[in-house]
Amino acid sequence: MKLRLAGLVSESIVDGPGLRFTLFLQGCPHRCPGCHNPETHDPAGGSAVAAAELLVQIRAARGIDGVTFSGGEPFMQAAALAGLAEQILLLGLDLVLYSGFTFEELLQRGTTDGPTRRLLQAGTMLVDGPYVEAERDLTLSFRGSRNQRLIDLPASLREGSAVEWALEKGIC
Ligand code: SF4
Repeated sequence: MKLRLAGLVSESIVDGPGLRFTLFLQGCPHRCPGCHNPETHDPAGGSAVAAAELLVQIRAARGIDGVTFSGGEPFMQAAALAGLAEQILLLGLDLVLYSGFTFEELLQRGTTDGPTRRLLQAGTMLVDGPYVEAERDLTLSFRGSRNQRLIDLPASLREGSAVEWALEKGIC
């Protein structure tokens, strides 16, 4: 299956805990004022890449703790990403998901959309919500504005409501 990619970084320390392989998905409907990546908004932009090709690159990456799906809006390509996410877990890596949707919106969406549900189930941490310029805070870990939360996805799905990530516990 192919997905549209704005770019990738094979070694990142800013897109979640530890050393990460980050995919920036192309296409975003949120149009947050002050967005730092406006070139990722057009769903027809970027380039088409086979998920299988990305998996080869991820498998070849040395020393990474996990993979991050950032954007753009990854959940606009949930159908293409769900299978890749499940393969990443099989490699023993964790998965951080970014979304301009809130956890509650994604949970609701997942009740009728299988790929959204599968992607949430594969995730370790979700960084949720739109970027809000008035809430901008450069001191935050892994996010740009105070409204955005670091969410423990397995615990949140178990509870049926958002459980925030305890940063001091790290990941894995
Ligand atoms: S969700 Fe992210 S990529 Fe999309 S407009 Fe907002 S800040 Fe930009």
